Amino acid sequence: MATSKNPLVVGVKDLVHQAGEMRELTLELVAPEKYGEAMATVPQGTPMTIELRLEGLHEGILATADVVVEAHAECVRCLDPFSFELRVDFQELFAYSSSDSDSYTVVDDSLNLEDIIRDAVVLELPFQPVCKEDCYGLDPATGEKRTEPPGENVADEIDPRWQELSKLLESDPEKP
Ligand SMILES: [Zn+2]
Repeated sequence: MATSKNPLVVGVKDLVHQAGEMRELTLELVAPEKYGEAMATVPQGTPMTIELRLEGLHEGILATADVVVEAHAECVRCLDPFSFELRVDFQELFAYSSSDSDSYTVVDDSLNLEDIIRDAVVLELPFQPVCKEDCYGLDPATGEKRTEPPGENVADEIDPRWQELSKLLESDPEKP
């Protein structure tokens, strides 16, 4: 094909001004760009599955989506890289016409899902990813991964290199 079609632009000609009509489809594609900038991201090119339901309404097309994608992260406690399945769902109305520049509109009988999916995925990525809920982080003395909770005496002999990290850990509200 001469022109590359954006897979996140979905044609809805069959639904435009057809209130009550509904169509479901599944999009299998790859993330067109990297999502997220922090400890957890979805790299560009990661396979994504989007279950999409499109409904014709009087004022526009209602898109309901379920996105499943594998995210990659670095554990904030032990710094190990890990990946996990991220599921995101959202519902958005694409209006036939709108004076509000923040709202989505049907353009050329199509819905462009690119921005919505990026925003929904980025919002769902954890700020403080942990490889597992009971990850005990690194032993400040050895730099090895702890296999059990830290004892009371470790604070005295903490390696200065790990002091910043341990401060972060202590302020982590999710710490058990
Ligand atoms: Zn960890």
